[in-house]
Amino acid sequence: MNAAVVTVGDELLVGDTENTNATWLCDRLDARGVRVRRVTVVPDEVAEIARVVNEYYAEYDAVVVTGGLGPTHDDVTMEAVAAAFGRDLVENEEAAGWLADRGYSGGDLAAETTHLPADCRPLPNEAGVAPGAVVESVYVLPGVPNEMTAMFESVEGEFAGTRTHVVTVDVDEPESELLDRVASLREGFNVRVGSYPGEVVTVKITAESEAEAERAAAWVREHADAVDGDVVEGERAESVGDESV
Ligand code: ATP
Ligand code: MG
Repeated sequence: MNAAVVTVGDELLVGDTENTNATWLCDRLDARGVRVRRVTVVPDEVAEIARVVNEYYAEYDAVVVTGGLGPTHDDVTMEAVAAAFGRDLVENEEAAGWLADRGYSGGDLAAETTHLPADCRPLPNEAGVAPGAVVESVYVLPGVPNEMTAMFESVEGEFAGTRTHVVTVDVDEPESELLDRVASLREGFNVRVGSYPGEVVTVKITAESEAEAERAAAWVREHADAVDGDVVEGERAESVGDESV
């Protein structure tokens, strides 16, 4: 399974707000074995949001959109997602019911709060007010981080990718000198390779097969100046479903 993340908000584009939602979502999706192929930041504009959602819906298995759900005039994400699917925004009875159960009566909230794309699956907001929605494979979540994480966790089980294994090897050589060996790794093994320079270069090896990840890591330890043979091992996507893409 692959996915794209769309974060909405003018405040992100001017650097007022750090895009921690994107990082958090990428980490969670990756942990489930979902390949995140795009992270995009778009302004609070219907046409821009709709264009990106439309494109990513066609291209990727799932799209996660966060931000711009509130009822204020600058929050237009629901309108944009509806537009991307050629649907109207309509009063969602289920969402209105949840809010009524929590003591909000019609006059307490702007009417737009419960206006969601027609025929969507509404998502309750356990940590706030504005509901989210699922339209086909597009998940629309709030921007406020604790509201976003709570809502994502309520649908997390729907994101299932291929189980992968990660092994990292720290190498005490300049990254530029590792280029040929990283290329050999990519060619000779069925793995993905990342190299992250810091005090040492951390070579991150990801594979669907644990044995293949270990075999590639052993090759790195043998052919590079691995630090103390100190290997940090981790496994991602322990709890994914049986879907494999
Ligand atoms: P509300 O229902 O409260 O109006 P919302 O879904 O409309 O929420 P936004 O108005 O887009 O969300 O953002 C609310 C706050 O959440 C912002 O002020 C910002 O602090 C934070 N926020 C929004 N997007 C992100 C993001 N991508 N990363 C981190 N924080 C964010
Ligand atoms: Mg906003």
